[in-house]
Amino acid sequence: MGKTAVGVTYSAFTGWVDRPTDFAPMLEGELTCDVAVVGGGYAGMAAALRLAERGAEVVLLESGFCGWGGSSRNAGYLSNALAGDPRLLNALYARRLPGLIRYADRAAHFTEGLIERLDIGCEYEPTGNVIAAVSPGQLRRAKRNAEILQGAGADAEFVEGRDFGLPATFLGGVFERAGGLLNPGKFSLGLRDALLGSDVRVYERTAVRAVEPQASGAVVHVTGGRVRAERVVLATNAYSRELAIAPRRMATPIWTSLVETEPVEPERLAATGWTRRIGIVTPHTILENYRPTPRGTIMFGTRRLRTARGALGAREPDDAVVADLVQGFHERFPSLSDVAPQRAWGGWIAMTPSLLPVAGEATKNVFYAIGCNGHGLAQSPYLGTLLADRLAGSQMHEDLATVWRPRPRFAMSVLSAPTLRAAWAVDRISDRIHRRRT
Ligand SMILES: Cc1cc2nc3c(=O)[nH]c(=O)nc-3n(C[C@H](O)[C@H](O)[C@H](O)COP(=O)(O)OP(=O)(O)OC[C@H]3O[C@@H](n4cnc5c(N)ncnc54)[C@H](O)[C@@H]3O)c2cc1C
Repeated sequence: MGKTAVGVTYSAFTGWVDRPTDFAPMLEGELTCDVAVVGGGYAGMAAALRLAERGAEVVLLESGFCGWGGSSRNAGYLSNALAGDPRLLNALYARRLPGLIRYADRAAHFTEGLIERLDIGCEYEPTGNVIAAVSPGQLRRAKRNAEILQGAGADAEFVEGRDFGLPATFLGGVFERAGGLLNPGKFSLGLRDALLGSDVRVYERTAVRAVEPQASGAVVHVTGGRVRAERVVLATNAYSRELAIAPRRMATPIWTSLVETEPVEPERLAATGWTRRIGIVTPHTILENYRPTPRGTIMFGTRRLRTARGALGAREPDDAVVADLVQGFHERFPSLSDVAPQRAWGGWIAMTPSLLPVAGEATKNVFYAIGCNGHGLAQSPYLGTLLADRLAGSQMHEDLATVWRPRPRFAMSVLSAPTLRAAWAVDRISDRIHRRRT
């Protein structure tokens, strides 16, 4: 962890929690099991827990520690939203949209239930979330988006900013009632505690190098040994492309960053107009998010995304991205421009070419589930659980069927360094036009 040019302390993990010190053992030697789960994020942990509850012998293999990935690093919006602008989703997937919205809504309620059932203390506040416009153009689109979402069955409505208790620079938007805000690090380590206390055999600091399908089952190779399993679940999210068995082009890894301020007095927050405790996301091409935290700070992020060059190793945020996020914070909260940013971190998300969650069979007996696209806090545990139920012998749940891919083939992604730079520039130009008019 080090101080940077902009005076912010950077972390290569997360600002939400400290790293655990009680690692599960590394795998050495050979094991057999019914199901081997690769990856200990929300998806892998939830899948392993459910499989064990259903009586399967499960081994979970995690290259760092459970919760090392996006699961401990995210902004903590438990949301029933899908990634992508609703008008775009409606244009591309009009027929599937009601099913997808039902899936995302159930994901939010499922994850709320999981927190309660496992009694995980993660500071959950069921506030809902709002996608709030910062310009009249965005506000008009928000009205249309609310209609599209309601038409497809979403629990969402259009709200005016001031009446709703949003900061003055946010004009109004789409209020999504399900979900709310939590501490994702505590959620993730709470799931890890449940996992370590279960019948699942967990191996940490155990990177899977290859998965080799066999006539019956598959062999999972790790540095110091191997696991013979009847079935394998790849819950490797953004890191999937590092495994040759994962479908090609399934997910593009994108680096996304967060900044946290010093504590802000509640009166100063209320004076901005932010009287309702709720997480805010903007509808820019690349979203901005602003949320209060239980420790009295404000956390904000995204806006500028980075693609991966080479392996997805440990990484700290870039100065340029942090400076841009801070500039965005000053624009949205002009009266708080003296509030100092204190910490920053980031993580890898998996963007699928369709922007939709996906699950399926990569090759015989090797399954995958990616509920991310930057919205996996609710969706990844749900998708992992739905896949586990299927592997444990249940009929395919209608929500799993909604995201199931009959073939492991994926189109080329449009996300690249130039397109992400262009999207950022379009957002800044639209901000500038709005500022000139006001
Ligand atoms: C900065 C940031 C902000 C975000 N904000 C939000 C938000 O507010 N709301 C929301 O819904 N979503 C948000 N997300 C996305 C959310 O965090 C993810 O969608 C979710 O954590 C995905 O869970 P997962 O289990 O699929 O993947 P991950 O948590 O990434 O877990 C994958 C795991 O697999 C392990 N692994 C990978 N390859 C191997 C291998 N070969 N061998 C062994 N282990 C392996 C990794 O070490 C990792 O622990 C955000 C993400 C980031 C980074």
